[in-house]
Amino acid sequence: DLTAWQRDLRAQFPIVVGDPGVAYLDSAATAQKPQPVLDAVLDYLTTENANAARGTYPWANRTTARVEGARDRLRAFLGDPEPDRSGVHFVSGATEGLRAVARDWLAPRLRDGDEIVVPYADHSANIVPWQEAAALARSRGARVTLVPMPYDAAHDYDTARLAALVTPRTRMIAATHVHHVYGNDMHVPRLRVAAGADVPICLDAAQSIGHLPVSVAELDADFLVFSGHKAMALPGTGALWSRNRRGPAYAPAGWPGTPNTAGIVSLTAALDWLDAAGLDRIASWTRDLGARLTAGLAGLAAYEVLGCQTSLAADSAVQRRQGIVTFRHRSIGSNDLGFILAADGFLVRSDGHCQGEQGERTSSVRVSLHVHNTVDEVDRLLARLAALC
Ligand code: PMP
Repeated sequence: DLTAWQRDLRAQFPIVVGDPGVAYLDSAATAQKPQPVLDAVLDYLTTENANAARGTYPWANRTTARVEGARDRLRAFLGDPEPDRSGVHFVSGATEGLRAVARDWLAPRLRDGDEIVVPYADHSANIVPWQEAAALARSRGARVTLVPMPYDAAHDYDTARLAALVTPRTRMIAATHVHHVYGNDMHVPRLRVAAGADVPICLDAAQSIGHLPVSVAELDADFLVFSGHKAMALPGTGALWSRNRRGPAYAPAGWPGTPNTAGIVSLTAALDWLDAAGLDRIASWTRDLGARLTAGLAGLAAYEVLGCQTSLAADSAVQRRQGIVTFRHRSIGSNDLGFILAADGFLVRSDGHCQGEQGERTSSVRVSLHVHNTVDEVDRLLARLAALC
């Protein structure tokens, strides 16, 4: 029974059940934390907090084991088929992970005439680091070309055009698993077909980890980066997974310093929670809520849903929306709409969404859903939006 399953999970979010007047609809910005994640952090901090890989006493040893265990936990969560050949590095979030791949791993390897495919309509965290890598290469005399990733009309990657753009000098294809504005699954497995076997693919999974099952075997990427705080762990956590199929595994030596131990504990607890809850069911729950919201908005002439083609019902993009729906009112500004909705307890994201230079340039309202959201919340939101027509 899906409703009972969801009710049980919702009850585990203290911030959500603590204020029934609020509908939290901004999980793409940051996710709320279920009680077991909070408990795990408090338990760690009150029983064995210590630094990792340094002390010789039991708390320190257990902390070291927890950090090591967290790497294995993440590999299992990602369905890593070759855990002995992959690297896991804990970072502060997707932004830091992408910068690490671009500036620390890729930039020193770039030679004159090399090319990087950059997804200019995706999140700027997945654009700027590649620009920085090219600038670093240029500063030592290597001219590097940034090739814009081609998109099709449905905001998917246009893999046919991409295949024609890949050359022997392509050193990286940067891509996103689920788009943070349109919510669409970007069909990443098709990228490998377009790229060929040898071009490294770096995947920004910030909007997919915690929302749907993620399999690195299926995605066939070489680097995968995400933010823990969007996956129900604490802020300041995240991971960079890399494999060394062609020798690109990220060198652990690049990460001195004390790790975010409590954050890493929270990440393990979050992955445990998400797996136990069932990522397939989480994905279908949020997809259904998103489809309900999209269908409701389609009936309201005052609103325009971003990323939808002509016929919403027939639009396959709606089916692929992973619980993210972005829209604008034809006459009310998006920030004003955000304030109006917040006054009634609907917490949404408004304005721009850190989208790259080829993205939408006008502001909009984004509703992003997670497993604690309900049909009732969506219907109440639609009723409020309808009253503004
Ligand atoms: N990529 C995507 C797709 C995102 O949605 C975000 C966060 N909005 C980021 C990267 C950056 O994540 P963080 O700010 O946690 O580093």
